[in-house]
Amino acid sequence: MSVIDDLVGEFAKLPGVGPKTALRLVYHLMKGTPDEARRLAGGIRELADRVRPCGVCGYFAEDGRCDICLNPSRDHSTICVVEEAFEVGAVERTGTYRGVYHVLGGHLSPLDGIGPDELSISALERRVEESGVSELILATSSGVEGQATAVYLEGLFRPKGVRVTRPARGLPVNSDLEYVDGSTLSEALAGRKEM
Ligand SMILES: [Zn+2]
Repeated sequence: MSVIDDLVGEFAKLPGVGPKTALRLVYHLMKGTPDEARRLAGGIRELADRVRPCGVCGYFAEDGRCDICLNPSRDHSTICVVEEAFEVGAVERTGTYRGVYHVLGGHLSPLDGIGPDELSISALERRVEESGVSELILATSSGVEGQATAVYLEGLFRPKGVRVTRPARGLPVNSDLEYVDGSTLSEALAGRKEM
């Protein structure tokens, strides 16, 4: 039964899925038609083969650049800076933000050895220098390290003549963007203030 055991092992590695749930998922797939299982497998294969970080902003892209960077109706002079790619999805779900994004890949955390060079900060500097960016919205997390990251970025970009803002208070302390509800997030972005 190694096929089943192997698949249970793979599912159990997913966040929020323990061995019991993994086993239930595998049984569920076996009860369905072979085509249903193949569609799931095909989707995972496509994800692995075709989805990569966008070469511009770091969000998910299938062909080098993501749909947001490729969209000419977005405001490419306003960049919302987030820590992780999934946070782009949280801001997009508000449906009110028309600018573009930059994914840092985390926040500054000296104790864990994460300095500016470990984040995509130099890529952000290049974007600002090359493409007429007028505002950076620093939507890093509201915890100590996210705040320190925002302060660092402000020091880097304000001297370059870029407007640097931070979403308004209203985001719960230490909460990641993903867990903030859409209207709270939308209001926080609309009420952003100069740092
Ligand atoms: Zn992009």
